Amino acid sequence: MRIWPIALLLMLATLSATGQDAALKLTARTRVPVAGIAELYEPREQQVDWKPAETAVMFIDVWDRHWCQGAVRRMEPLVPRMNELAKAVRSKGGLVIHAPSDTCNKFYADHPGRKLARSAPAATPPVTMKGWCSLIRDKEGALPITDSDGGCDCEPRCKEGIVWKQQHPGIEIAGGDYISESGEEIYNVFHQRGIRNVIIAGVHTNMCILGRSFGIRRLVSCGFNVVLVRDLTDTMYNHRAAPFVPHDRGTDLVIEHVEKNWCPTILSSDILGGRKPPHVVFALDESEYKAKDTLPAFAKKELEEKLGWKITVMASDDVKTLPGTEAIASADLLVIFMRRTTLPDEQFGRFKAYFDAARPVMGIRTASHAFQNWLAFDHAILGGNYHNHYANNLGSTLSPIAAAKTHPILRGVDPLAFKSTGSLYMTSPLAKTATPLLLGTVPNQPEEPAAWTNIANGGRVFYTALGHPDDFNLPQYRKLLVNAMLWTMDRPIPMNAAP
Ligand SMILES: [Zn+2]
Repeated sequence: MRIWPIALLLMLATLSATGQDAALKLTARTRVPVAGIAELYEPREQQVDWKPAETAVMFIDVWDRHWCQGAVRRMEPLVPRMNELAKAVRSKGGLVIHAPSDTCNKFYADHPGRKLARSAPAATPPVTMKGWCSLIRDKEGALPITDSDGGCDCEPRCKEGIVWKQQHPGIEIAGGDYISESGEEIYNVFHQRGIRNVIIAGVHTNMCILGRSFGIRRLVSCGFNVVLVRDLTDTMYNHRAAPFVPHDRGTDLVIEHVEKNWCPTILSSDILGGRKPPHVVFALDESEYKAKDTLPAFAKKELEEKLGWKITVMASDDVKTLPGTEAIASADLLVIFMRRTTLPDEQFGRFKAYFDAARPVMGIRTASHAFQNWLAFDHAILGGNYHNHYANNLGSTLSPIAAAKTHPILRGVDPLAFKSTGSLYMTSPLAKTATPLLLGTVPNQPEEPAAWTNIANGGRVFYTALGHPDDFNLPQYRKLLVNAMLWTMDRPIPMNAAP
């Protein structure tokens, strides 16, 4: 029997303990069609384990400068995290590829990383790795944003041109890293090193990340497992171009496009740690329905205890002030149960800034008339049209609209037909951007939408006219709210969502 030297055993133990051979555990998000509803997709998350030795991280076009000052401003904060990602993948035994186009044969011509890339023996890729890979209309349809104007979001517009000289110095190029801007070369490197998995970060998703000779379209076509780090990318998208949404929503739409058509996305926290739970901020300012009792109790039980989310409650009995609105800026979801408030400019301004950024919103019951100084809020943001309600003693009967029965928000809302003791709100007709999910009825009257989704300014909104204190005792209502919160934040709603 061979006696292993103690030093070797110790080294093996250390390797294992420091995770050199530990898999990269990623939460890969794709987007799948919802059965039974045309054109509706939902996010799906799947855990994948990648062997570091078979994995490369590639930074595409993270330049030192950019002709668009907006692009510079958005990318600068991402660079330190990109460097952390490079360090992490490198230390686990993965490959790091720096791909700053237009600079490799000038600034980096004699760099050891260039020589390393050039020295990989030629291999034969299954598809060409030469030149730009344009939109493949048969496979992916059109991009969800118009970028033919170059995508500068600034005012006045920046002058286009090649102003970059090297990769951003904030990303360290270590010994053993590769530098290349050639699809063929990068394919050779991957072939030589047995790379099967590629993690992509950099800019801009709608252009270089998809289209470069070594971009997502090409790598996926070659059969590599590819993921895009969705919090370490950006788009060139001008909010004055279709679909006329804030810049960050445009980026989200392109990421959705990638998830639908090309490859999953991950968060840098999958590798670097520190994934934060969602922060839900409640704005409660009404005196009729005890929102200040029902919603915090609901949030504590269903969100804080069961899901580990962070909760902030702003509550007031005074329609003239709502203390604590500073919290809105850090909200991942703003839940509004307010009635006919006229807030000081500073407080109201924080709501407006949040809506202008098209961040997730949930409106409950009297939220349709939350702002007495902005009655258009109902239609513009919530997508509703509140104008009156039926008698209190009638209550209402709820049922799903046929076209929405398989909507993820109604998943596990069981049974889907139920009664509410709250009066039925007259809410129709809804905005064209709204999609009704539940209908409410009282005898001998037309049906009224009682819960719907809306897309306002590109952002996700959910509203329900239900919200009577008794509703919070209904398992269906509680499920509806939790599902809708997940939906507004674009988080997966479990398939086996038991009530
Ligand atoms: Zn610009």
